[in-house]
Amino acid sequence: MTDKLRAPRGTFDVLPEQSELRASLEAAARELFDAAGYGRVETPAFEATELFSRGVGEATDIVQKEMYTFEDAGGRSLTLRPEGTAPVCRAYVEHGMHRLPAPVKLWYLSSFFRYERAQAGRYRQFWQIGAEALGSDDPAVDAELIVLLATLLERSGTRELRLHLSSLGNPATRAGYREELQAYLHRHEQALSEEVRSRIDLNPLRAFDSDHGPTREVMAGAPRLLDRLDPDDAAHFAELRVLLDRAGVDYEVDATLVRGLDYYTRTVFEFESAALGAQSGVGGGGRYDGLVEELGGPPTPGVGFAAGVERILLAADAQPPAAPGIDLFIAFDGGPASRDAAFAMLLQARQAGLRAEMELAGRSLKGQLKHADRLDAQHVAILAPDGTTLKDMRAATQTEIDTAAVVDSVLAAIGRQQ
Ligand code: ATP
Ligand code: MG
Repeated sequence: MTDKLRAPRGTFDVLPEQSELRASLEAAARELFDAAGYGRVETPAFEATELFSRGVGEATDIVQKEMYTFEDAGGRSLTLRPEGTAPVCRAYVEHGMHRLPAPVKLWYLSSFFRYERAQAGRYRQFWQIGAEALGSDDPAVDAELIVLLATLLERSGTRELRLHLSSLGNPATRAGYREELQAYLHRHEQALSEEVRSRIDLNPLRAFDSDHGPTREVMAGAPRLLDRLDPDDAAHFAELRVLLDRAGVDYEVDATLVRGLDYYTRTVFEFESAALGAQSGVGGGGRYDGLVEELGGPPTPGVGFAAGVERILLAADAQPPAAPGIDLFIAFDGGPASRDAAFAMLLQARQAGLRAEMELAGRSLKGQLKHADRLDAQHVAILAPDGTTLKDMRAATQTEIDTAAVVDSVLAAIGRQQ
């Protein structure tokens, strides 16, 4: 026997029950975004590699270690999209959307690809629901997006949510702050863990994540970027907080919140669910006022979020809904003539809007009735050379009936007219 083929590591099949759950989440997202004026976009599953190295940032984990990059037969370097913001901004520039009235509001539900250590809630192909608003730096846009994500998570039953919020200011402030933090860390070098000490020059911000006691004591007194924001950025953050307070959205200001993409400016946020294990991030986003220009477009502010479909479903502990029964099962006894009559009835029933199925697997009549039961059929028609019978399974009655009258009779019984 040949080896069994399996789905690649970190990927999964979506079987019918799970796809019902996903469809309800998609429907909830569509309804929410529709009402808020967001139009759906779909970009290609792969893009020029350069889009991500420029748009996500050369130094990020995504670009450094997580991309599926390949060369096609024409010698181009392509990458399976690891995230949605850079592609949406690329499409915005490519289609001249900066000429549309601002803000241009877009949403997507697509799959993304990252080469990561596969575990619960972390896959190599996963789905995200995301939204982007381009062309306005009004903090009300940031607030609108945060409220939209909060509402989506709430409606999908995501449990034990916490929202972390911060501002990263602008790149110049960040560069100045980084130097200040490095100098502070060097001054306290002797108290820091070996690991933090070795990364002062590479990634000083990681020091905030350390669980080494003495390092934590040092970090408690470390300068915070939030206290160094320039007046415009500080005002933007203050306005956002007022809007969220008025909207009744609970959040925690988290001065140490760092996000995985290089292009964030000002607002950053992340929803976490305590119902998830180590992979607690459900969705997050932020403002990226420099990105569109970085990708060759005109200077354009933007803000957006992305939330993981699998993590939403996990954090909601969503149970597949019970499959609904069918209206009519068409059984038959006898040769091909009965089978052909059953098939004609099947098409007529579906045309009339009934959920209908017929016998397709060569079962005995007894087996067919058992199968009708499994399908939770409300009505069963039995076609035989000597006439047609219609059983009403709920009422437990059965009548001899003209074959041509079956569909109308079922429609009448379930209260629908043709
Ligand atoms: P994490 O900290 O878990 O690596 P991230 O910061 O890389 O998350 P983002 O790039 O912000 O995640 O993506 C937004 C959301 O997409 C995450 O909050 C998460 O719900 C989901 N997500 C990210 N990576 C994966 C993955 N490999 N598998 C499943 N979902 C993911
Ligand atoms: Mg990640």
